[in-house]
Amino acid sequence: MELTSSRIAPCKRQIFWRGITGRCPNCGQGRLFKGYLRQVARCGVCEEDIGSIRADDGPAWLAILLTGHIIAPLIGYFALHDTLPPWLAMGSLLAITLVTALLLLPRAKGFFIAVIWLTGHRKARE
Ligand SMILES: [Zn+2]
Repeated sequence: MELTSSRIAPCKRQIFWRGITGRCPNCGQGRLFKGYLRQVARCGVCEEDIGSIRADDGPAWLAILLTGHIIAPLIGYFALHDTLPPWLAMGSLLAITLVTALLLLPRAKGFFIAVIWLTGHRKARE
């Protein structure tokens, strides 16, 4: 079922935001994931085919890239300032890195699913 044909088509920014927030790029209502990263086969609202979209390594690449840009200034700060003992600075950086990467990964996967849905997947079906 194609909801966009009966509604005003969403702009690219809306489609990307739907992906980042884990919502169906077509309707914005259904969920993209049934777990942490496992995609649903079809949207529960509009029945858009989500399961055939393969983001592959793109989300991991994006999550690592963004995490690195967040963590690198903190590494520089801890290297230049003796505010914390080294063991505590390393432990803090490790914890912040893990939490940041785990928070970013599903959002990056949703973003890639939305981009693929917008650019290739939808065109291939039409
Ligand atoms: Zn949907």
